Amino acid sequence: MKILVLNCGSSSIKFQLIETDSDMIESDTDRCIAKGGVERIGTDEATLKVVVPPNPPVSTTEEILDHQTALTRAIATLKEHHAFADISQIQAVGHRVLHGGERFSAPVIIDQDVEEGIQQCIELGPLHNPHNLRGYYVARKVMPLVPQVAVFDTAFHQSMPPQAYIYGLPYSYYRRYHIRRYGFHGTSHRYVAFRYRKIFKKQREEANLITVHLGNGCSITAIEKGLCVDTSMGLTPQEGLLMGTRCGDIDSAALLYLMSKDELTVHDMSILLNKFSGLYGISGESNDMRELQAAEKKGDAQAKLAIDVFCYRIKKYIGSYIAALGHVDGLVFTGGIGENSPPIRAQACDGLSELGIQLDPARNAAVVGKESEISVAGSRVKVMVIPTNEELLIARDTFRVVRGLPNPH
Ligand code: ADP
Repeated sequence: MKILVLNCGSSSIKFQLIETDSDMIESDTDRCIAKGGVERIGTDEATLKVVVPPNPPVSTTEEILDHQTALTRAIATLKEHHAFADISQIQAVGHRVLHGGERFSAPVIIDQDVEEGIQQCIELGPLHNPHNLRGYYVARKVMPLVPQVAVFDTAFHQSMPPQAYIYGLPYSYYRRYHIRRYGFHGTSHRYVAFRYRKIFKKQREEANLITVHLGNGCSITAIEKGLCVDTSMGLTPQEGLLMGTRCGDIDSAALLYLMSKDELTVHDMSILLNKFSGLYGISGESNDMRELQAAEKKGDAQAKLAIDVFCYRIKKYIGSYIAALGHVDGLVFTGGIGENSPPIRAQACDGLSELGIQLDPARNAAVVGKESEISVAGSRVKVMVIPTNEELLIARDTFRVVRGLPNPH
């Protein structure tokens, strides 16, 4: 089955065309036929990039004023480059949807009821859900007969027990406004956990895992027997680890103090916390880990401080999730930084040998962007690098839901 996976943002659409006939993560037969994206939608300088392997990438800059035109152009370009012979070969569309609230704990076919459910979650995910929905509306127009499936970033974390998701606020706010921890990056955490079990030939019940996703956004998840029992992101993707431009955990009273000191509005604070904090805020120069590492090498003290805070926070979370799980079999790094930066992995795991985590320096240094173990032989906790592949999991989820197969996860 050829499945178009869509991730729709305010001015962008990312897509992959994946051929899969499997609902199983263990399958090795899936194939990414093509991928690409449209950026700066709404301008006369929108860029459309498409890669249809083994051909080189193609890219155009043109006026694309809305998402429907963007998708239509993307599909036409895919056809032009022989990703498929006819649009009717696309048999389903899988949409990445950020927030599924408490209602969605698994992927679903989008019908009117589901559409309303996603709309209701806009309050919880105001920056993403409207655009994810727009992706659905546009795809429905372009491919009216094709089933569309929503795969939620929050769904995997719905197995958390109340002790992990209830905040210490008056309980009425949970009842009235559904304020609680939801967690994000669920598809990524789920994917690498499956890969781990596949590599070590374990059943779900046989592996307790800590998965660390370090990209522009960063989060960490404790997985007990295949189920998420805790995760670092919260009501929004703000909480937890230090990120590219988000501050992660902070004393909530510090925010009130800052608001009153500088007379900042809610909007000001939202921008400050989302765009100007984290690695960027501390270093004062970049949210890009590669740039910070280069600056640190040249003796830049602020860059070093940003990296130190970043790694220390990860280490603290790993320790706390070992406590939450009691017994841990594997620790998995993924995401742009987790997959590609041996020094960050080494610093985050430094001093954890008492807790069973011992990296092999040579192994770790050799692993960049590929699947491999990086712990010493016999380490109590196996430490792995596993490149994430959220699109593949969205395609498999979509296949399964469209075929009406049971949820194996
Ligand atoms: P997103 O969350 O937007 O998908 P990615 O997962 O691509 O982002 O991660 C982006 C981050 O990965 C950036 O901070 C980038 O600097 C970092 N990164 C990518 N390659 C490397 C590398 N070789 N060494 C260190 N950091 C890297």
